[in-house]
Amino acid sequence: MPAPATPAPAATAPVDGLREVAVLGATGSIGTSALDVIARHPGRLHANVLAAGSNVVALLALCRTHKPRHAVIAEASALPALRDGLRQAGLDTEAHTGDEALQALVASDACDTVVAAIVGAAGLPSTLAAAHAGKRLLLANKESLVLAGELLMRTAREAGAVIVPIDSEHNAIFQCLQNACLPDAAARDGLRRIILTASGGPFRGRTRAQLADVTPAQAVAHPKWDMGPKISVDSATLMNKGLEVIEAHHLFGVPGNRIDVVVHPQSLVHSLVEFVDGSTMAQLGLPDMRTALAVGLGWPQRIESGVAGLDLLQHGRLEFEPPDMDAFPCLRLAFDALAAGGTAPAVLSAANEIAVSAFLKGKVAFLSIPSLVEDTLTALPAIPAGSLAILLDADAQARRHTARRIEQGLAA
Ligand code: NAD
Ligand code: MG
Repeated sequence: MPAPATPAPAATAPVDGLREVAVLGATGSIGTSALDVIARHPGRLHANVLAAGSNVVALLALCRTHKPRHAVIAEASALPALRDGLRQAGLDTEAHTGDEALQALVASDACDTVVAAIVGAAGLPSTLAAAHAGKRLLLANKESLVLAGELLMRTAREAGAVIVPIDSEHNAIFQCLQNACLPDAAARDGLRRIILTASGGPFRGRTRAQLADVTPAQAVAHPKWDMGPKISVDSATLMNKGLEVIEAHHLFGVPGNRIDVVVHPQSLVHSLVEFVDGSTMAQLGLPDMRTALAVGLGWPQRIESGVAGLDLLQHGRLEFEPPDMDAFPCLRLAFDALAAGGTAPAVLSAANEIAVSAFLKGKVAFLSIPSLVEDTLTALPAIPAGSLAILLDADAQARRHTARRIEQGLAA
């Protein structure tokens, strides 16, 4: 007798009605990918708050398409242009500026889901506000976890905010852990180690000497992922993987000595989790951030992302090799900063932001990025990070120190 047909899951019916989403960093790489997924699900998802840094033209175009209730531009001088543009387009979207307005909106009932995709430590206040307000937090802004991971995770736990990591590696681990960050103690006991995969970036295989005169244009030309300029440079130095080690530590409660990094140039295996029984789970897929975003936007259901499935026969080979920490010392600096604890990760990330920005402007060489970060870590030894004020002070001191070093021409 044939088995009774299993009723088809109601895959298209949302479990909790229309979700109002705030997309922070809407004009960026992650922001536009998030809006692409949202637009595929009109009855389930609506972008109700859009926030960007300074690009009014791009923000207005997104407002015309998505018709949010609120639009926020960080650059205050751009507010009149945003307001005029919205009026001329006949939209009733309200225009805002400033960190306080953004935090208030993120915490308000204008949204139940927040895509945190502002780049750099500038994303911390709004990310914290979303966690504090108990929102579903789709966390792409890894710098906020590196700067204030303990506080952010504690705030989310106390407020009942669900965090879905959007960084592809952490999203893969989240899926391997059956959709959980911070698994309970028993689950954590069963987890032996986390294996983060790294593409190796555009300069994989080069020696240190061969990195001396690489240009910003070469550094941002990532072979597998299409990303914003800062994270593209971070991928080229391997600092991105270093930040991700610290990110994984906070998200999943695993110490640095149980987090390994393996270079996997095909970028199809997005990370792995090894359990005490010898099982290793991995998540695979094409390198397209819409998959991770769909996991977060649909969770706990699976929804269409626009990403095709993986044709294993077409790809053929999956390769793995160890990272070269001599040519790419940023990864080692990040492991060291995690081990030092306290303010060290905040100093690492802030120094890196300043150094990367100077590299992108052509002011310092590629190899100066790790030198500047190391110099700043040495100048500002770790102290216990008892409060957000201490962390923000360490962040500010590190920015000043690195900028001064660049001005003094002591970068190389
Ligand atoms: P991006 O440079 O493409 O976009 C950054 C966005 O942030 C833009 O919309 C910009 O207007 C906005 N922004 C900048 N400063 C702001 C401010 N002060 N206030 C409000 N908005 C501001 O960057 P991205 O590649 O989309 O990366 C965003 C974040 O996601 C980063 O933290 C990055 O590490 C992380 N991430 C990105 C990817 C990726 O594939 N792009 C993958 C994993 C993680
Ligand atoms: Mg990543």
